Amino acid sequence: MKRIYLDHNATTPVDPAVLEAMMPFFREQFGNASSVHEFGRVTRMAVDRARDSIAKFLGISSASELVFTSGGTESDNFAVLGVAKALRDKGQHIVTSAIEHSAILNTCKFLEKEGYKVTYLKVDEHGLVDLDELRDSLTGDTILVSIMLANNEIGTIQPIEEIARMVKGKGIAFHVDAVQAIGKIPVDVKKLGVDLLSLSGHKFHGPKGVGAIYIRKGTAITTYQHGGHQERNRRAGTENVPGIVGMGKAVDLAREHMAAESARMTALRDRLHRGIANTIKYVRLNGHPELRLPNTLNIGFKFVEGESILLNLDMEGIAASTGSACTSGSLEPSHVLTAMAVDAADAQGSIRFSLGKDNTEEEIDYVIGILPPIIERLRKMSPLYNG
Ligand SMILES: *Cc1c(COP(=O)(O)O)cnc(C)c1O
Repeated sequence: MKRIYLDHNATTPVDPAVLEAMMPFFREQFGNASSVHEFGRVTRMAVDRARDSIAKFLGISSASELVFTSGGTESDNFAVLGVAKALRDKGQHIVTSAIEHSAILNTCKFLEKEGYKVTYLKVDEHGLVDLDELRDSLTGDTILVSIMLANNEIGTIQPIEEIARMVKGKGIAFHVDAVQAIGKIPVDVKKLGVDLLSLSGHKFHGPKGVGAIYIRKGTAITTYQHGGHQERNRRAGTENVPGIVGMGKAVDLAREHMAAESARMTALRDRLHRGIANTIKYVRLNGHPELRLPNTLNIGFKFVEGESILLNLDMEGIAASTGSACTSGSLEPSHVLTAMAVDAADAQGSIRFSLGKDNTEEEIDYVIGILPPIIERLRKMSPLYNG
């Protein structure tokens, strides 16, 4: 059976060129990057090369401001816990949004138990944070604002530059989870005006288990993983050399192909959207109509359960998602759609299609053909639906 992967916001396949770049570092170039001998020097150079390349791609002026981690979750934890600890005596209030990834939300919940206060900003019907509410939420006690650049479930892109201007000059650290944005839209830390930024290799055709965090020079942050002197004493532990090299290569590929790929992706995404809207009644777009990732289409199908749609698509070889991979399996409606005031029944019937560089027009047309009979069949079984 033909298999079509439309779940790239959960993870992406490793690009063959990325795998090829990594292979020598599993084999003959296995040295510890901290070793002084030739084996170590070779891997140290490879790590530095990847760091330089990623830093340049993100507009980071000094590569030493980039710290490698085990992924997006660790980078998010590092930012929130590290700043909270470092600035504890200055204040204990954190501002974030209600639609963040669980790596941010659950870290904030943990800090609430430790005595910190957290404001979870509401979003509008398109998933945009309310800037007035944000401005009003900042107090003398606020030490950190953490807002994602692009949402993983709906793809909505936040006005990070405007938020940075609001936060700047108040002694508040500004962290951005850019995990979903990297490789899809331009990300420049200087232009955005952020202090901290998270990324993750496996969301843009790099390997799993490797990520990085940008920490602007002068940002108060406490290290939370102690041990050796790696990463200038900010993140102990022997470097994941193959992973770091792979993520560096994935950035090189993004640099080369992002502009063209994003245009192609937008066209495919909109083709899928039009195909669905033209053939299926009672559908709605979840997310911002324009300020949205080029690859992300989240559609609500009235009168049906999202899980049933997914299972039916899966039987046809099509992989999609009801939202975040991290919350699937729970019957709770998506916290993102709930925050956008999508009513619970509509949120239940929402499906996220997230496209990637290997998807073709034929695949999209195949999905457009498969979907209407599935939805019709499921609706016929629904007591709420009467044609
Ligand atoms: C996937 C994701 C993460 C977590 O990254 P991992 O590398 O999988 O730990 C964090 N934030 C967002 C927005 C994500 O999409």
